[in-house]
Amino acid sequence: MSFTFSTRDTFFLVNCGETCEMSALHFGKVVRFFRLNNYRLSNQLENAENVLVNSCCVITGKVNDVENKLQFVLARPHVKKVVLFGCFAGIETASDQRVMRISSKAIEAINTHFEHRVAIEDISVTSFHPDYFIPYQQSYDPGVRYVLIAQGCENRCSYCNIKNAKGSTKSVPTADIIREITTSVGEGAYEFILLADDCGSYGADRNSSFVELARTLLEIDPRVRLRVHYLFPAALLARRGEYEELLRTGRITYMNVPLQSGSQRILHLMNRAYDPGKVLDTIRRLRELSPKTWFYTHFIINFPTETDEDFSRTLEASAHFDECLFMNYSTNPRTAAAGLDEVDSCRRAHRLAVVHDFLEANGKGLLIDDTTAGPVV
Ligand code: SF4
Repeated sequence: MSFTFSTRDTFFLVNCGETCEMSALHFGKVVRFFRLNNYRLSNQLENAENVLVNSCCVITGKVNDVENKLQFVLARPHVKKVVLFGCFAGIETASDQRVMRISSKAIEAINTHFEHRVAIEDISVTSFHPDYFIPYQQSYDPGVRYVLIAQGCENRCSYCNIKNAKGSTKSVPTADIIREITTSVGEGAYEFILLADDCGSYGADRNSSFVELARTLLEIDPRVRLRVHYLFPAALLARRGEYEELLRTGRITYMNVPLQSGSQRILHLMNRAYDPGKVLDTIRRLRELSPKTWFYTHFIINFPTETDEDFSRTLEASAHFDECLFMNYSTNPRTAAAGLDEVDSCRRAHRLAVVHDFLEANGKGLLIDDTTAGPVV
């Protein structure tokens, strides 16, 4: 079988996904693939004819970052091939003949293009190399293991470029997840973060559901603890009773339920169909059932047409959570929200300052800059 790359090839690696758990996990897996299959990795661009760029396209700032790095490496005449890996919706430079694209959702394509002894699917990575990921949550614990359960989702949020990159849900088979967790339990690890773009979409392509998966995983060993990374609020409301039963076990130690806004009007413009009041009431109930669970959420501020009243509702809603990530809105040109009226720059700056002071005062999380996707506080 002829491969695009042989183990005699040398690679220079560029990581643009250092603030995303899923991107860091996939990048770690690809780097381990290179090492286990004896590819040469150089930390000098001039010593490598091939480059792998771990791409992220969550916000315009990230797209620009990847574009700039791609242009930089493509401007080097000695560079023969560039692999754009990960999420790359809206990254134009990817049209260059020397660029090969492999999405993290189709990671098995690595086997097709790279000569190998160890296949990518036979490589397990459940934690981050410190060089590949910048922890940003107070609840971050390097001892907790990450388990990918799905990519893509069943929703269509009007601002989202991840959806453009990943499309609908691709769930990992339950048997594979059980095997990964059982192996880790055998190694003395009992707490797991279940990673997905939306855990609530798990099983949509397999006639299953996240609640069924979680129940099954808790049956593996009574010491197993689960953290839920990104649960779409509407999915929580749709199966509230079943989530109450899960939380009643006291073994769901963390839930990230991205509310995104405290305003019903803004949620409508985001194409996120749920009542924020009902979500907050559900969080209150789940906290009663499991007082030790850490409730995390995301908010987008300065979403187009956001009024001061909408903004206040968002700040009020944050009181229901233990930790919050505030993201300053940035337009993704290839999304439905791109056509909406932007908030004026003075009001944007004012709200950023309000959130900055709010977080400084209560230490409840962080504000993400819309250009770097990196923390402001
Ligand atoms: S749930 Fe919404 S924001 Fe999250 S990946 Fe899906 S479309 Fe994007």
